Amino acid sequence: MARDDGWGNFVSTTLKAKEFPLVRSNVWGSVSDSDWNDWSWQLRNRIQNLEQLESRLPLTPEERAGTILAGKKLALGITPHFFSLIDRNDPNCPIRRQVVPRIEESNTAPDEMLDPCGEDSHMPVPGLVHRYPDRVLLLVTDRCASYCRYCTRSRVVSGAGEQELTVDLEGAFSYLEKHPEVRDVLLSGGDPLLLSDAKLDAILTRLRKIPSIEFIRIGTRIPIFLPQRITPELVSMLKIHHPLWMSVHSNHPKEMTQEVREALGRLADAGIPLGNQSVLLKGVNDRAEVLKELFHKLLLCRVRPYYLYQCDLITGSAHLRTTIREGQEIMEQLRGHTTGYAVPTYVVDGPGGGGKIPVGPNYIVGMADDRVILKNYRGDVYEYPEIGQSSVADLRG
Ligand SMILES: *Cc1c(COP(=O)(O)O)cnc(C)c1O
Repeated sequence: MARDDGWGNFVSTTLKAKEFPLVRSNVWGSVSDSDWNDWSWQLRNRIQNLEQLESRLPLTPEERAGTILAGKKLALGITPHFFSLIDRNDPNCPIRRQVVPRIEESNTAPDEMLDPCGEDSHMPVPGLVHRYPDRVLLLVTDRCASYCRYCTRSRVVSGAGEQELTVDLEGAFSYLEKHPEVRDVLLSGGDPLLLSDAKLDAILTRLRKIPSIEFIRIGTRIPIFLPQRITPELVSMLKIHHPLWMSVHSNHPKEMTQEVREALGRLADAGIPLGNQSVLLKGVNDRAEVLKELFHKLLLCRVRPYYLYQCDLITGSAHLRTTIREGQEIMEQLRGHTTGYAVPTYVVDGPGGGGKIPVGPNYIVGMADDRVILKNYRGDVYEYPEIGQSSVADLRG
């Protein structure tokens, strides 16, 4: 059941949909349900230029100037589905801040980098990042359904910047055959679920022929940006390649619509364990209540919050970054205050190529040879006595 909210948005009235609303803006006029629910229609009708954006959303001067410049750095791209979540009357809408370009993107703050995670220098084969001993990141495409303005890989993603992503898939497969220490492959990009079912199937089938590859996962924001892409056909292809895990990317509770919940449900029903990666973003999700609501909704969709990322030092991101201290304060308001499954690990990707580093907060107040001083979620202090060398001797008699 659905009703019009008076603004031309169709809002479902069932109870379960109250938490996961079906929101369809009328900015596309009289599009049929079958078109709207068709992922190729969603892709064809993405917002990709100033004219398309401005005709549907009154822009601020900062957004207008940012959009004109976007074609030179990271393209503008927003699916109708995600665009519908924007509050057109709120220039600070958290959905809007994630995908509508702003002029601040063309400022380079001190310490910002084009390749903040130092990936290019860890690529033994084009498209394959091998930083950790037993796992690799395989970038299979440079395109996404929509473009996040804080994209850590904006140097190569979207086709707008100067650098192009080159991917040597055959080279990557033979590298993996020669490196049996790699047991875990993470497909990313760009968004791997933008590939056709056949192409993705071919990549997964080829990886499954390498005996040392145990664990495969896909990093994707498609279930959030383009939930229509999670078709029954895609899901039945994916489940042939088990054990297959998936990390999705959501940042704000408004993203958890009914379509998204159904798409995540199809993946979970296929036995694909789901994790979520969020990026801590100023003005989007930098309050504990906002993240708590998001994480609770994810649990209801059978998605385990996996990482909360400190925003990388990507060029032009200063207006979206918080401090690490603020991130720690938010984490302190979550850990112990809500379900442990709802609390992700807060990490910083070490600038220049350090990999993911957990940044607390820290619950150890002090350590001595014979005891550890701890604090709990309320700040009360506890002592855990350590078994020292002398007490081990005592135990032995
Ligand atoms: C994030 C990442 C991984 C996966 O790390 P996990 O902590 O296992 O999720 C692997 N390789 C690279 C280069 C990464 O950035």
